[in-house]
Amino acid sequence: MTLRVLFAGRPEDREVWSAALRAAAERAGERFALETDPARVDPAAVDVMIVDPKGPVRDFGPYVNLRAALSMWAGVEALLANPTLKAPLARMVERGMTEGMTEYVVGHVMRIHLGMDAHLFAPPGRWDPTPPPLARQRHVAVLGLGELGAAAAEALARLRFVVHGWSRRLRDVPGVICRAGSEGLEETLRAAQIAVLLLPATPATAGIMDARRLALLPRGAAIVNPGRGALIDDDALLAALDSGHVAHATLDVFRHEPLPPEHPYWTHPRVLVTPHIASATRPDTAAEALVAQIGRIARGAPPLHVVDRAQGY
Ligand code: NDP
Repeated sequence: MTLRVLFAGRPEDREVWSAALRAAAERAGERFALETDPARVDPAAVDVMIVDPKGPVRDFGPYVNLRAALSMWAGVEALLANPTLKAPLARMVERGMTEGMTEYVVGHVMRIHLGMDAHLFAPPGRWDPTPPPLARQRHVAVLGLGELGAAAAEALARLRFVVHGWSRRLRDVPGVICRAGSEGLEETLRAAQIAVLLLPATPATAGIMDARRLALLPRGAAIVNPGRGALIDDDALLAALDSGHVAHATLDVFRHEPLPPEHPYWTHPRVLVTPHIASATRPDTAAEALVAQIGRIARGAPPLHVVDRAQGY
């Protein structure tokens, strides 16, 4: 039986994604019927849905025979908040997104490590010839060692940073000092001259970087958050930045996006705002991953990377 797949991404994405999906299916030798307009399909006939939380399908109730929803995003909290979506939900794991996130993390950790901002924004004539330390003298922590966190942590370790990693279950990442549990978090934060947040937004991670945890960081530490805005207690971070306990925050994600123009992060001298661009789902590589998932479902196997609803990721 040929699976009927509905691409429920944003209408402006239909053309690029259907071309990428067809090309990937051809390369992989997979066959399925692809629809791109929910208004033109019988919901009961859809087997698999490729879904963007900002796409057109908000009520999944009529899709009574849905075998799986394949998220176009790695972060699934918005889809999990939709009570009508009951089918197994798989999060997006694709090499383009992983590469992009590793590049963002390595780039900003390097920027902070080398003290580049001081030179970029130095007044004319300031000549400070202090060389930066070596990477092997710098402790970097990565909170969250999933697809993205583990890849970024490994890349940092290859650059010889002393990398500490923290996750819910104890992980084994080459070159990384791995810890788990609440004591593990405290130990990890105490070591972190630069802390990178790559945790998902779940009830257990909400506000995890609160005043108490920020205080565990060594004085002068920097934070890089490409994970989710909800991980940080914003008032606590602003207080830690004002006191200088946290020297700098590079923030890509926020509780409300776009970040409202009046938000203090925009003008804070110790904050760099990037507009949720740390990484993105790339149609060419993501289409390969989606076609592989559709192939598994067609053969009766469960999709990979199914979200554990009890854990929220
Ligand atoms: P994964 O699900 O692969 O990994 C999540 C990691 O977080 C795992 O190591 C997991 O632990 C850990 N974790 C989850 N809950 C807890 C907890 N309560 N305590 C300790 N550790 C916990 O996700 P990805 O790596 O694919 O993505 C991470 C996040 O990155 C996404 O959820 C999304 O929010 C964000 N993101 C941001 C983008 C951007 O452009 N800014 C782009 C893409 C993603 P364990 O290993 O034990 O399961």
